[in-house]
Order: sequence, then C-alpha cells, then structure tokens
Amino acid sequence: MTLLAILQYPDPRLKTVAAPVEDVHAPGTKTMISDMLETLEKTEHCGGLAATQLDIAHPQQIFVFYDYDEADPEKRTPMVVINPKIIKTEGTVLEEEGCMSVHPNHIQAKITRPAFTTIEALDSQGLHMELTRGGYLAKLFVHEIDHLEGKVFIDHLKPLKRKMVDEKIKKVLKLKSLQEKNA
Ligand SMILES: [Zn+2]
Repeated sequence: MTLLAILQYPDPRLKTVAAPVEDVHAPGTKTMISDMLETLEKTEHCGGLAATQLDIAHPQQIFVFYDYDEADPEKRTPMVVINPKIIKTEGTVLEEEGCMSVHPNHIQAKITRPAFTTIEALDSQGLHMELTRGGYLAKLFVHEIDHLEGKVFIDHLKPLKRKMVDEKIKKVLKLKSLQEKNA
C-alpha cells in the first residue's frame, strides 16, 4: 500500500475528470482503492477523498469516506464508492465548507449544498448500492462527486467572492513558500 500525496489547489490535475471504473477487480483499480483507503486512514481530520485529488496517474471514479451514524459519530466505517451518481437530493443548507486540496485550515467558504443526498454506486466488490445521508455526509457526497468531475468547492462561488478567496489563497501560498525557505 502506498500513501498518496493530496494535490493542492491550484494544481491543474484537480481539473481532471475521472474515468469510470470498468472492472472493480482489475489489479490497477484494486491498488488504487487500497492506496486511497490507506491515505484516508493516515490523514488527520479527513472525512473523505476522491481519486482526482490524489497523486494518481489515471484516476477513476472512486471516492472513499468515513460512514457514521449521527447518533454514534465515534464509530466510523471506511467506505469505498465507485462510479457514483446523485439520484436524489432534498432541501438545501448554506454552511462553511473546506477541502483537503484547498489549503485546509486556511480556506473555508459558505456553499449551498443539499440537506439530504441519495447516490447510487458500486461498492468495492462491484455490488450495486444506494446510500442516503443527511448532514455532513449529504454535503460530502456532492463535494466528492464534484472532485470526480474536476471541480473544487470554490468553483461554486460567485465571481466577487471567488476573487476574495483567490486573493486569500495567494497569501497562503506566499506564506507556505516562505516557511519552506526558512525550514
Ligand atoms: Zn475536497
């Protein structure tokens, strides 16, 4: 298993549109899945990761996330989602969002997302599944599917707000490069 690097905005690879998985049992796909699970496990404060935000040569339509019951958030299960499609959403929420690929801890912005999201997908064995989640996971599903389509959350911002966020990102990048020089 390999720990994968998480791409950081504005890495152009974040715009990659993932190819659908043809065969979940193909060796390349199985390796991708186990590397993604390992990366999820070893990345602190990470709820989910999409193949297109990781250093993978030919990312496929796969995301991994921690599933949990809101009644017992401590108990969480890593899940693999393959070729996901949104089949239904309900309601909307406007809440702060961040991303492991958009300078986490520095950049957050309010984004409108569904209150409930239903997706259909394949699991790691290639079996069809349908998942409906509310709250954080309803937002996570659309956030990860955006990644697989080459989009990051700040792409949803209106131009003026986006400009402000881009300015902030420039400052963060400058700060990071200074820190690297001094390290
Ligand atoms: Zn993200």
